[in-house]
Amino acid sequence: ATLKHDPSCIFCKIVSGQIPSRKVLETDEFIVFHDIAPWAPVHVLMVPKEHIATLYDSQDRHAGMWGRMLALAPGLMRDLGVTNGFRTIVNTGPDGLQEVQHVHIHVMGGPRPWAKG
Ligand code: 5GP
Ligand code: ZN
Repeated sequence: ATLKHDPSCIFCKIVSGQIPSRKVLETDEFIVFHDIAPWAPVHVLMVPKEHIATLYDSQDRHAGMWGRMLALAPGLMRDLGVTNGFRTIVNTGPDGLQEVQHVHIHVMGGPRPWAKG
């Protein structure tokens, strides 16, 4: 409960329950919830509970958390009915088109037309 927190951050507010979300999974380290504006039939966000603004701000001590988060994605997507593949995306910084300044992994799956140009 001493994790870094930014009271003005929308994802910190989701982590603390101040803003509702369609939660899929929660551990002591991170939460997973459905994106409010999905780009794919199934689109969830994996979000560390600690406020880390961007991947530039991630520290060595976060490495295990990143690994555990990514390792949960396949089972999570299977539980959501995605069995034929999915994409994982981390947008970083202005040129990386990051809109919410609290790190997250987009996990997107479902039948393919949405997936690539
Ligand atoms: P970014 O562009 O930062 O990688 O992606 C931010 C994502 O967060 C977007 O896909 C956007 O739809 C999603 N998002 C923004 N605000 C909210 C919110 O209040 N609730 C949920 N569930 N998703 C949000
Ligand atoms: Zn935050």
